[in-house]
Amino acid sequence: GLSAARRRSAEIEDQLATDPGRFRVLTGDRPTGRLHLGHYFGTLRNRVRLQDSGVELMVVIADYQVLTDRDVADRLTENVEELVLDYLAVGVDPERATIFAHSAVPALNQLLLPFLSLVSVPELNRNPTVKDEIAHSRRSSVSGLMYVYPVHQAADILFCKANLVPVGQDQLPHLEVTRTVARRFNARYGRAAGVLLPEPDALLSDAPLLLGTDGGKMSKSRGNAIALAASADETARLIRGAKTDALRHITYDPVARPEVANLVLLAALCLGRDPRQVADEVGDGGAAALKRLVTEAVNEHLAPLRARRSAYAADRGHLRAILREGNARAEAIAETTLGEVRAATRTDY
Ligand code: ATP
Ligand code: MG
Repeated sequence: GLSAARRRSAEIEDQLATDPGRFRVLTGDRPTGRLHLGHYFGTLRNRVRLQDSGVELMVVIADYQVLTDRDVADRLTENVEELVLDYLAVGVDPERATIFAHSAVPALNQLLLPFLSLVSVPELNRNPTVKDEIAHSRRSSVSGLMYVYPVHQAADILFCKANLVPVGQDQLPHLEVTRTVARRFNARYGRAAGVLLPEPDALLSDAPLLLGTDGGKMSKSRGNAIALAASADETARLIRGAKTDALRHITYDPVARPEVANLVLLAALCLGRDPRQVADEVGDGGAAALKRLVTEAVNEHLAPLRARRSAYAADRGHLRAILREGNARAEAIAETTLGEVRAATRTDY
C-alpha cells in the first residue's frame, strides 16, 4: 500500500545519499499530451534530482501504448516532441540521460513475449490502475495492448535492469507487476543461468497524487490539468476555476478537505515551505486569497522552466536528434538483455 511505499522511499533516499552508484533509474510517460504539475511534483523533479546527483537516468516515451487513442494518434509526432520539450524544460540533460521512444527499440518489445508468459489472465484483470484507465477512456472497449500495459511496462523497466522508478501513486500497482515478472523470471530461468533481473523499487515524492482542478487525480487526458507549458494567464484562469469547499477558514487537511489541501500543498511545493504554515497564513482569507497565492507561486516557480521550454521549441531538428541518439543507446542495452533472456530461457538456438 501507500504507506509501505512511502517508508520504502524514505529508506531509498538514505541509500541515495550514501551510494548513488548502485541505482539505475528508468521512468517515463505516455505521449498523450503536455506534462502538468502532477507530473512535475510527482516524478519529474525526482528524475532531475537523481540525474544531477550522478544516478543513471533512462526516460521512456511509451508511444505504442497510445496508438489506440484516436485523439492522440493523429498528433503522435507532435505529442512526442512536446514531451521531449517538457523533459528539457525541467532539466533532463540528454548528454547524461537517455530519452527514447519504446516503439524504436525492437529488442525491448521482444521481451514482452517471454514476460507475458510469466503472468496469468486473472492477475491482469485485477490491476486497479488499468481498470481506472479503462473507466476513463473514451473508447468503449479496451485493446489487447492496453490490457497488457503493465507487462509492457515491465519490459520498459527491466530491459535496462533499472532498480529504481520515480513514479506517482497510481503507478504502484503497475510496478508490482514488474516486480512479479522479475521475481518469476529469476526463479524459473534466471537463477540457473546466472541472469538476475532486479525487482525495482518505486520512488515516491512528497506529492504522489496531486489533484486536478476538478478534485480528481490531475491527468493529461481528463481536462483538469495545469500544463507546465501553460501561459501565466491560462494558469490563473484554471486555478480560479478549481474546486474548493464552502468553509472560509483555510486549513491543511488532506482527508477532510482534499481540494483545499491540494491547493495549499501546491503553493507550499512551489514556495518550498510547510503546507500547514501556508494554510495558517491564508487563514480567514478564504478560497479567493488561497487561489491568488497559488497562482502567483506556480507562475513564479515555472517562469524559468517556461522560458527554457520556448527556447528549445524553436529547434525541432534538435529534438529529433536527441530521440535518435537515445533510441540507439536504448537498443544497444536491450539487445544485451534480450540475449541474456534468450539464453536463460534456452531459446537462443
Ligand atoms: P493519462 O491521463 O494519459 O494517463 P497522466 O496524466 O496520468 O496521463 P501518465 O503518463 O499516465 O500521466 O503518468 C506519467 C507519470 O506521472 C507516472 O509516474 C505517474 O504516476 C505520474 N503522475 C501522473 N499524474 C500524476 C499526479 N496527478 N500526481 C502525481 N504523479 C502523477
Ligand atoms: Mg496515467
